[in-house]
Amino acid sequence: MTRMWMIKPECLCRNHLLGEHKELHQLIGSILANKSIKGHLEKGQVEVHNIKSRHEELVKEMKKRGYNHKSPLKKFKAFNAGKINIIENYNELERRCEKCRELIKTKK
Ligand SMILES: [Zn+2]
Ligand SMILES: [Zn+2]
Repeated sequence: MTRMWMIKPECLCRNHLLGEHKELHQLIGSILANKSIKGHLEKGQVEVHNIKSRHEELVKEMKKRGYNHKSPLKKFKAFNAGKINIIENYNELERRCEKCRELIKTKK
């Protein structure tokens, strides 16, 4: 499932950090292939205008943790679309993931 969490990168566990990062690349792949991302926009899972800056901050956190990053982000034309509820995402990750819950408790 494609989803930008948009919470502080320090609060994401390894799986969720690498997962969100991978999904940003997939999202651009979809946009470049003209695949519809309407469903994701409607569900509040994606903010197209923030993909680039979000990618940068996730890569920064990945490097800080010593994870590899070898894939440059493909160029695409950003446009204004989507609105994510970050507070809801904190709650959802706290519910879903024990490791994120611990990180959110200490680093939020
Ligand atoms: Zn990347
Ligand atoms: Zn997690």
